Amino acid sequence: MAEQGNGSVLQFAPFQSSVDEGFWHRLSSLKLNKLGIDDSPIPITGFYAPCSHSQVSNHLTLLAESLPSESSEQSTVPTTSQGNRNRCSVPGILYNTNTVEGFHSLDKMSLLKAEAKKIWEDIHIGKAVEDSSVLLRFLLISFADLKKWSFHYWFAFPALVLDPPATLVDLRPASQWFSLEEAESVSAACNMWRNSSSTADVPFFLVSVDSNSNATIKHLKDWDTCKSNNQKLLFGFYDPCHLPNNPGWPLRNFLAFICSRWNLKSVRFFCYRENRGFADLALSLVGEALIAVPQGWKDHQCVPNAVGWELNKGRKVPRCISLAKSMDPTRLAISAADLNLKLMRWRALPSLDLNILSTLKCLLLGAGTLGCQVARMLMAWGVRKITLLDNGRVAMSNPLRQSLYTLDDCLNGGDFKATAAVKSLKRIFPAVEADGVVMAIPMPGHPVPSQQELSVLDDCRLLHDLIDSHDAVFLLTDTRESRWLPTLLCANSNKITITAALGFDSFLVMRHGAGPFSSNHDLKDEAVNAISAGLGNINLADKGGRQRLGCYFCNDVVAPIDSTANRTLDQQCTVTRPGLAPIASALAVELLVGILHHPHGVFAEGEIASSSTGGNVEQPLGILPHQIRGSLSQFSQMTLVGHSSDSCTACCSTVVSEYRARGMDFVLQAINLPTYLEDLTGLTELMKSASSFELDWDNYVDDDDDCVEI
Ligand SMILES: [Zn+2]
Repeated sequence: MAEQGNGSVLQFAPFQSSVDEGFWHRLSSLKLNKLGIDDSPIPITGFYAPCSHSQVSNHLTLLAESLPSESSEQSTVPTTSQGNRNRCSVPGILYNTNTVEGFHSLDKMSLLKAEAKKIWEDIHIGKAVEDSSVLLRFLLISFADLKKWSFHYWFAFPALVLDPPATLVDLRPASQWFSLEEAESVSAACNMWRNSSSTADVPFFLVSVDSNSNATIKHLKDWDTCKSNNQKLLFGFYDPCHLPNNPGWPLRNFLAFICSRWNLKSVRFFCYRENRGFADLALSLVGEALIAVPQGWKDHQCVPNAVGWELNKGRKVPRCISLAKSMDPTRLAISAADLNLKLMRWRALPSLDLNILSTLKCLLLGAGTLGCQVARMLMAWGVRKITLLDNGRVAMSNPLRQSLYTLDDCLNGGDFKATAAVKSLKRIFPAVEADGVVMAIPMPGHPVPSQQELSVLDDCRLLHDLIDSHDAVFLLTDTRESRWLPTLLCANSNKITITAALGFDSFLVMRHGAGPFSSNHDLKDEAVNAISAGLGNINLADKGGRQRLGCYFCNDVVAPIDSTANRTLDQQCTVTRPGLAPIASALAVELLVGILHHPHGVFAEGEIASSSTGGNVEQPLGILPHQIRGSLSQFSQMTLVGHSSDSCTACCSTVVSEYRARGMDFVLQAINLPTYLEDLTGLTELMKSASSFELDWDNYVDDDDDCVEI
């Protein structure tokens, strides 16, 4: 490398800053939890180390521990300012403003001058000799926008300006400046200095080399003893800069210090740099500069001019960093939640489609025991769009079983469940897009007085629109008849529909088959055999055909009626074993996930658990059953398949056609006339003919009731 200098002005490579995210995290937390509106300057600690790579300069770095800890009583003192060889502590000060306007209107000139004055004073009172890190004192101004998680900031590394500037007469790699023996000795001495815990983080020092080429590193305070010997004496410093032709920024105040304190005219300096943790004299520089004590420096009251605001890509503007992605608690919650699901994809379930789950819109009809639990399970699977529909209020008896509510929701008559559930879901997971709809579902067998007809029809239309605008619908109400209209509407628009119903100690979870007019060509044209209604349609066994799967009402031989009439209290309330709802809810959601991941989706055939194979090996999630019936009294569970009935009061083509043709008139008729649906679907006829088979229908219905009614 050619010799540099020859009387040119000595130029320094500016210090560069680097702020760890942890610093902003702690600053935010400090601001939120402790400082509040207080914007007094905060002492902070920066860290730096000698350059350790031939291509990269080291930065002055701020870490979380650069700030005082929140709990610390003496908030003005950073608790962990103890440095080490890779972290030389540097004192700094932070001006964090309360507004962005305050940030921009800070008087940067006088702030810089104030810090320069501290450096100047430390030089004159001798503090810089004892603790040379004060020569590196820095300044940070910032504004933390905690709503957007963005941070405006600007560093200054105040440097006292020598006037006239220092002249460079020589600058070359230290390996060239020293003789071989000297270089070896200097390296060894530096490594020793760097490896001793008492000196490793002392950034300014003296290098003296005696006539026998023996080098020693000494503290600045030993200058008086060194200068008398006729030795080579160099002023060394940890140089963060990697450039071959420029010393780093710390030399500026070092020269000012040397000039002011010892009144030297010529200074040999040593820019200490490392490679792989050891002194690298090929990277390190030795230079000689001529300095003249500027006029006025004798007067200690007169603070020299200072420069040092860090440039941002060459421009005098502040920096801004947005940490929205990593700091907003909502986003943190999302990434944490995603992490759980993404980990499932690592090995257990590589085909898990998180996207389909996170964009899926689920409508939950009923926000009671089942609705609460289904909503939670959906969130656990990564479903983010949930609408809950319910017209009830949270009662005192609810919170213990209905997992989204607390006592607060019951006070003052109780909040609407739909509202309270949404609030609760957002508290659990702020990123959930939850909506609540307070509405009663119109039901057959609950005739509507004429003055209420309009509002009931409005409800019907609203329900129709809600079902249309969602991808999957859960029927989780506590009566049979309240599931009728949603079942019909779902069959009409061919939605994924899942029913969960509870008895005292038994449950039914099922997915409804596709609608009668769905476009899957594999399905038999139901209209063709609609007239052949018979016993075959209520068989639960899979006949092996590609008939569409049944709905909740397909097995019924009576239309839904008012099931709450003539009921005692224990029959009207949700009297079930408490473990039942969580089990059924979890199965309902697992069933949904199965449908979503099945290549045929809503058209998928019902599969039955096989004890021999232990599950379907073809699908990563295993088999996709049609119905799951379970009993807590037996601790048993079985999967069943039931095909659609041509005389179903909710999903058969006759009913859906009628709805399509007559819309709300049809719905109103079904609600008001008890036998209308049975007449329409031929159930009345079926029952008449069935009696000739001497089947005990009453008994059958009772059994069914036990299983699926509340
Ligand atoms: Zn049906």
